[in-house]
Amino acid sequence: MSLHIAFDNSYARLPDRLFTLQAPVPVAAPGWIALNDGLARELGLDPDALRSEEGLAMFSGNAVPEGAAPLAQLYAGHQFGSWNPQLGDGRAILLGEVVGADGIRRDIALKGSGRTPYSRMGDGRAWIGPVIREYLMSEAMHALGVPTTRALAAVTTGEEVIRETALPGAVLTRVAQSHIRVGTFQILTARGDLEGLRALVDHAMARHYPEAGSVPEMLAQMVAQQADLIAQWMSLGFIHGVMNTDNCSVAGETIDYGPCAFMDAYHPGRVFSSIDAYGRYAYGNQPQVALWNIAQFATSLVPLMPDQQRAVDDFTAIINRFADLYQKAWIARFGAKLGLPDPHPEDRPLIEGLLTAMTGAETDFTNGFRALAEDAPERAGATPEWIAQWRARGPDLGIAAAANPVVVPRLHLIEAAITAAMAGDHAPFHEMLGVVTRPFDPNPALAKRYVAPPQEHEKVDKTFCGT
Ligand code: AMP
Ligand code: MG
Ligand code: MG
Repeated sequence: MSLHIAFDNSYARLPDRLFTLQAPVPVAAPGWIALNDGLARELGLDPDALRSEEGLAMFSGNAVPEGAAPLAQLYAGHQFGSWNPQLGDGRAILLGEVVGADGIRRDIALKGSGRTPYSRMGDGRAWIGPVIREYLMSEAMHALGVPTTRALAAVTTGEEVIRETALPGAVLTRVAQSHIRVGTFQILTARGDLEGLRALVDHAMARHYPEAGSVPEMLAQMVAQQADLIAQWMSLGFIHGVMNTDNCSVAGETIDYGPCAFMDAYHPGRVFSSIDAYGRYAYGNQPQVALWNIAQFATSLVPLMPDQQRAVDDFTAIINRFADLYQKAWIARFGAKLGLPDPHPEDRPLIEGLLTAMTGAETDFTNGFRALAEDAPERAGATPEWIAQWRARGPDLGIAAAANPVVVPRLHLIEAAITAAMAGDHAPFHEMLGVVTRPFDPNPALAKRYVAPPQEHEKVDKTFCGT
């Protein structure tokens, strides 16, 4: 290939039991869905060079570019609270890493690229639905200012993927600050591989916590970063849906967009995922689960510490800071949504008062908050008493406008874009991408359709795992 990408593959230099070298499995007839020019440039790549036969071959897994070191990563994880001793990249391949113009190292990985040694019963493939959903969701999250993995490209494979029916296959190219998860540490600890664990910790610390200098400090920074990340999700009505420890990135990014969704009507107990029977990952449980995941991370690090009993005490104290950090982040985010110039803990009843009213009125989360920025709190479902208290608090509508997006990628419209794409029409996907990547300032000619909550017959109640 003459496509030049300056790969520098630091993960491939780690002890080789952390991964398996594995090339992507070629596909029959690749075709374009999308290429993310802006992200390509951030990575220091030339979009025109990528939008070529060679680029298409790379993004479909049909050719491995020079300098890549394709591998499948090993990890374990707690899935819905149950320990699974080995997961790993069953349908993903890390092609390699590039250092962008901003000096940040990022993974370029294919998802849906064929079987690996970690595929278990799976086929290693993805169908076009989850590929389109992840592309729209992750790019919208980025535009909303949320740390997240990104979508560099999406291609069709010209092959069918068999699920309950035959579906068109696709491959997503995902970009992340890394794919190191809590489960990546857990598997080494569970196997008693302290040497591997030490190597991984050094790698993760150099890459994601360069100022930390020690394991407890890394943990403390991870706690702070997760507290803010989850507060951001909450402030957008975002429900991840599968917060397993293997889907919790140590780089602090939102990762693995499976059965995720932005809520339409607000309810703190909202669950979308068809497999989340007990609501473990319901909207309102997300902070608790994040804390639980951090505790698993801490547990996996204990064997590295010279005095393990003391480490347990120290780590517990660090983890216990989560509650306070999360409360602060939540007040800051929701205070801004109310337009409060200087949100403080005493504002909690005001914020909760609105959320209670919204629950009762089944207010659309996005539109309800946006109504505050438009000085129309009655449209949020707020009571006259609440409106009087809010006005007395002196809200700044500019602050509210900056904190409350006009559009988010609504589930029913994602489903419509998927349905069209299955029939070979990618136009609705591209239109939606253009709208949701300008969430505060969508094209007015298009915004109407994207602002409207689903009508009764359009409502999508359940989401399914991105298999
Ligand atoms: P996820 O629910 O996407 O976080 O995936 C959980 C685990 O299942 C990971 O190890 C995935 O690599 C694996 N997996 C999911 N779908 C497939 C598939 N179609 N083929 C092989 N492995 C899969
Ligand atoms: Mg996963
Ligand atoms: Mg997934």
